[in-house]
Amino acid sequence: LTGIFMAEILRPDLCVLGAGAGGIAAAYAAAAAGARVVLVERRRLDDGHPSPALAMHVLIEASRMAAAWQSTTSPGKASFGLASDLAPFKSVVDIAALRTRAQTLASRLALDSPIRLDALRIRTIQGTVRFTGKTRCEAAGFTIEPKWFVIAPGAAPAPITGIKRFEFVRPLEPQAFLDLEAWPKRLVLLGGSGHGLALAQAFRRLGSEVHLLEPGIFLPGEDRELVTPILTRLQREGVELHENTAVERVEPHLSGLRIGAVQAGCDLQLEASHLMLTTPPMPLVEGLGLSEAGVDYDKNGIKVRADLRTSNPNIYAIGDVLGGTQSLGSARSQGRRVVAHIFKIKPFFKTRHSGAPQTTRSVFTDPEFAAVGLSESEAQKSHRDIRVLRARFHDNFAAELAGESDGHVKLITDARDRLLGVGIVGPQAREMIALYALALSQGLRAGDLRGFVPATPSLSEAGSLAALALPGQLGKALWRRIFPVPRRFR
Ligand SMILES: Cc1cc2nc3c(=O)[nH]c(=O)nc-3n(C[C@H](O)[C@H](O)[C@H](O)COP(=O)(O)OP(=O)(O)OC[C@H]3O[C@@H](n4cnc5c(N)ncnc54)[C@H](O)[C@@H]3O)c2cc1C
Repeated sequence: LTGIFMAEILRPDLCVLGAGAGGIAAAYAAAAAGARVVLVERRRLDDGHPSPALAMHVLIEASRMAAAWQSTTSPGKASFGLASDLAPFKSVVDIAALRTRAQTLASRLALDSPIRLDALRIRTIQGTVRFTGKTRCEAAGFTIEPKWFVIAPGAAPAPITGIKRFEFVRPLEPQAFLDLEAWPKRLVLLGGSGHGLALAQAFRRLGSEVHLLEPGIFLPGEDRELVTPILTRLQREGVELHENTAVERVEPHLSGLRIGAVQAGCDLQLEASHLMLTTPPMPLVEGLGLSEAGVDYDKNGIKVRADLRTSNPNIYAIGDVLGGTQSLGSARSQGRRVVAHIFKIKPFFKTRHSGAPQTTRSVFTDPEFAAVGLSESEAQKSHRDIRVLRARFHDNFAAELAGESDGHVKLITDARDRLLGVGIVGPQAREMIALYALALSQGLRAGDLRGFVPATPSLSEAGSLAALALPGQLGKALWRRIFPVPRRFR
């Protein structure tokens, strides 16, 4: 084995490009299957730098704690039976402590630690990859000629065009708050993605004045009735939400920035201490030499077949570089799936229904949002007859007990009761959605969800109650009254 790696030309079974979520999962799975693996990554592995996702969650958890603390000292919480003599909460963020926490977690959770990779006999090379032929690539002076490639370079913030004077400002990257000297006083976020909404709420809860600007609508493609409780809460907490707002100009102003935008035909002028981009990232397809490798791609990502093979049969692509909805879970799952395909590991991800694992979509706001499968409008387009079943957390013992009963569970089925999609907005939605992801991947019916009795009190009871709901008996008008979408969010 060592002989293979001593020469400048490496000939492993598999070469993985990119040691992010997808690449690491593919490399681990291939090594577990006994394959000889080379993993190439341009950054230094295990550099202790928290990933954007980790930094965001450290921030969100700190903000949740701040919000809980704040509400413990608020008079409303006397209803919990606690006589509170705590001092009123005042948010003071210790950035250095946040940074230490993020770095500690990054090193504890480091799947890309060279020691672990070494132990699995995965050969790592630090360098930027470029294909020089259909079966060959180069990195850090090595030529690599494997039997198969897995490409997983991820995505990067899309270049901003069409905003005047943008070249004179340096927006913050989502994880860059860890390196700030002072907490942002007035933060403007550009891009109403799920991460944008979560970051906006977190910064607001930690004391910043926050404006979130989005050229279209927040979370397009998701059911508006599930998005509305999030927007309502953010507004109640003081986040300024600006939908259908096009930024036209950003320029340095005094010690901060001035932002000029147009909202519904009217001018909007904002001043900010910091600007952060939360626009959807673009797949990293340039600079890899994909044309030399015979891999079809465009700016929206690498083109793959259902089995994730590219136009070059020896090259697979996974993760954010494919474009579309991005998540750590789907990149990892795709990494394991391609390895199972390449090395013919069976049965793997065998499902009765679609053949592919169901990808969940989550937004880490409070209340949380999580969904799997089709939204109601997608289901209406692809099916002639659908049914929508709902249950509110207001009718759920556990949610009411915790004082977190905003939101509801929504099940969408076809006329024969088969589940097409599930959306949840409310407490612990990201945990609750797992059951429905499994149900969808197995082609289950709503009736199957009536076949078990969850613990009481538990949030899962809301899902069971939704499966028992009979929308026909209640009629549309009543549902609209119970789950209204305020005019401003329609
Ligand atoms: C702020 C933020 C928060 C997020 N939060 C979440 C979350 O909570 N949950 C969730 O599921 N997802 C989250 N995501 C999305 C998630 O991080 C991505 O979907 C996931 O990391 C994609 O995995 P990947 O393997 O495709 O790419 P990445 O994890 O980005 O890895 C790509 C790797 O390839 C390397 N690379 C790139 N080009 C080359 C080259 N030419 N040569 C060598 N190496 C190269 C890069 O250095 C990188 O290490 C978040 C994203 C952001 C920006």
